[in-house]
Amino acid sequence: MQSGYGLFSEEHHAFRRLVRQVVDKELRPHAQSWERAEEFPRALFQRFGELGFFGLKYPAAYGGTEAGFLYEAVLVEELARCGSGGVAAGLGAQFSIATGPIHLFGTEAQKQRYLAPAIRGEKVGALGVTEPDGGSDVASLRTTARRDGSHYVVSGAKTYITNGVRADFVVLAVRTGVEDSGHAGISMLIVDRDTPGFTVSRKLEKVGWRASDTAELSFEECRVSAENLLGEEDGGFFQLMGNFQWERLVLALGAVGAAEQMLEQALAYTQERRAFGRPLTGFQVTRHRLADLATDLECARQLTYHALRLHAGGEMAIQETSMAKKVATEMACRVADGCLQLHGGAGYMMEYDIQRHWRDARLGPIGGGTSEIMNEIICRQMGL
Ligand SMILES: Cc1cc2nc3c(=O)[nH]c(=O)nc-3n(C[C@H](O)[C@H](O)[C@H](O)COP(=O)(O)OP(=O)(O)OC[C@H]3O[C@@H](n4cnc5c(N)ncnc54)[C@H](O)[C@@H]3O)c2cc1C
Repeated sequence: MQSGYGLFSEEHHAFRRLVRQVVDKELRPHAQSWERAEEFPRALFQRFGELGFFGLKYPAAYGGTEAGFLYEAVLVEELARCGSGGVAAGLGAQFSIATGPIHLFGTEAQKQRYLAPAIRGEKVGALGVTEPDGGSDVASLRTTARRDGSHYVVSGAKTYITNGVRADFVVLAVRTGVEDSGHAGISMLIVDRDTPGFTVSRKLEKVGWRASDTAELSFEECRVSAENLLGEEDGGFFQLMGNFQWERLVLALGAVGAAEQMLEQALAYTQERRAFGRPLTGFQVTRHRLADLATDLECARQLTYHALRLHAGGEMAIQETSMAKKVATEMACRVADGCLQLHGGAGYMMEYDIQRHWRDARLGPIGGGTSEIMNEIICRQMGL
């Protein structure tokens, strides 16, 4: 367990111990079977609600604990050690991407109807931004919401939506402006799962994150009450960009937490496994490989914690967050690959965790904005 890094207090450490206990007792023993089944029990949402894990950064008025971002960061790092990237992603989507916009931009009625039950774990939420035609270019999204009296009529499709199959509500990015209105014509609507015209068209099969449900969603003349508009009409793009900040930090923190566990597994394996009459760590090349991987992890952790400190202090920290997301998620891929190699043939066997880390890590540089898009953002911050 890491030291405080000048960031985490004794209270944060105590919370870390609590989360680790929950993860070790209630998640890890089942992770492999949930990964095989390609789903985890919905009851886990309720359990996390009871534990207060969905409300760490939300006001007490909606059932939150007002503990703050640093506690949620600890939760994310520890969840990454649960043995299933899919479980971490499904539970994580609830607090890291789906409920944030409701807290920040929702009306009192929306908060009572969606945020409070999501914090209790009674309702499952999803965030729907990506479309079959493209995810990186958010300003070009094509799902439309035409105003018709007291409703919006939504038509279009979303894809790769985490929790999309079981979500009770989707916070949906739609185009309320004219066709070529770009970022200026985007709004956010909360859509209930039982709204006529809203269907889950497909559950998608994935390389990793297998226990999470990832769906393609279809909206055909789907009538959504105008009361479900989040914030200002046509103001959705900036809501989304703000939301991406925490999502990207969460992906970076998850990468750091997962890489820490990969390294622990590789250390244990290489100390035990013998070749040519000595443990693998008896070879300098093995020790140096482990040292390189540990250094790679530490560099990414420092940058991630730097961005986290800024974010928790109320700064937007766009450049640092984009850098941390890129560096940490790419680091996790390298560490996964290096640790798998150190396992030899065992690394390629399903019974060892490292193969799952290797598959799960690959999503990091893609989801929540690709590394190429992070570079675009960093360039813009540099004035390029
Ligand atoms: C498992 C999983 C879960 C997900 N969960 C969600 C979710 O819950 N909600 C949600 O809305 N989305 C979700 N996503 C979508 C994810 O955010 C997108 O996949 C991602 O943003 C990339 O979009 P895309 O797949 O459409 O790729 P594209 O935009 O088609 O990009 C393809 C390639 O082109 C590159 N590229 C694109 N534009 C540029 C450019 N300007 N310069 C250089 N290179 C460029 C990209 O970097 C990438 O390498 C999820 C995806 C996955 C795989």
